[in-house]
Amino acid sequence: MASIGVEVVPGTSGFGTVRYDWTREEVRALFAMPFPDLMFEAQRVHRLHFDPREVQISTLLSIKTGGCPEDCAYCPQSVHYDTGVAAAKLMDVADVLAQARAARAGGASRFCMGAAWRAPKDRDLDQVCAMVAGVKALGLETCATLGMLTAPQARRLREAGLDYYNHNLDSSPEYYGQIITTRTYRDRLDTLGHVRDAGIHVCCGGIVGMGEEREDRVGMIATLASLPVHPESVPINMLVRVAGTPLAAHEPLDAIEFVRTIAVARIAMPASVVRLSAGREDMSEETQALCFLAGANSIFYGPKLLTTPNPEPDRDKKLFGKLGLVPME
Ligand code: SF4
Repeated sequence: MASIGVEVVPGTSGFGTVRYDWTREEVRALFAMPFPDLMFEAQRVHRLHFDPREVQISTLLSIKTGGCPEDCAYCPQSVHYDTGVAAAKLMDVADVLAQARAARAGGASRFCMGAAWRAPKDRDLDQVCAMVAGVKALGLETCATLGMLTAPQARRLREAGLDYYNHNLDSSPEYYGQIITTRTYRDRLDTLGHVRDAGIHVCCGGIVGMGEEREDRVGMIATLASLPVHPESVPINMLVRVAGTPLAAHEPLDAIEFVRTIAVARIAMPASVVRLSAGREDMSEETQALCFLAGANSIFYGPKLLTTPNPEPDRDKKLFGKLGLVPME
């Protein structure tokens, strides 16, 4: 890649090569580009690696809701905040498989199972492994997000057929401590290492609009883009401000800054699927369209994202129709 210093000349940058030595200065320079130039580069990079009409569709099911001992300031499932989310036990395998069949019928190619745990207990993992094997047998890609994992737990999940594990870095290393105090950034990186070593694809991104500065968004993407291998899937979430959580009263992030974040993630991790994740319910069609133009090529489909609302499937189908987008096989 050409040296970008503080200025990028569109079309001549050499962006599009997968590299793991991104510096903060480089990522900062991307964020600072004039919007038309940034979008041009993001689209160019996107087309080098993907068909821009194709969007990967995932469905996310909460298999164990609420009662989580962690204190993630954005999360309605933490026991630390009074958000009205009722705690529920781990779902039965048969019920999860019924939901997976419905997701497949709705066009999903990946089925994600989320549990509100700090870390799974080994006996819970038996049940989750049965879910993973069952979902896999339906011909869907499998994904789970269960909190921190040990290396043997990651290997067990892989043996059960887990394709992806989601564990987000959430924000920059500096801002992380403002959001979560019950585990460290290092803990997160260790779990990601165990997942990678077990041969499971990594799904890892973050949340913006949590009151962080642009420099934190720079730090988050620079950290993701300089991991030893890029996450195959990079969810970029817009904070859903849930009443009762400490972040409920934050001003929403400017939509253009959100689109910029997607575009920078696309350029910095050219071959990864970038997911336009939480926060779509409150996003205009125009903002979502800009996100797709900026290189987002995955969404969660279905009316609920764990405990927060997501656009109704009909609304998404209409939007896909208007934009000429099709589900990725
Ligand atoms: S984000 Fe996950 S770990 Fe954090 S409180 Fe919510 S469920 Fe628990």
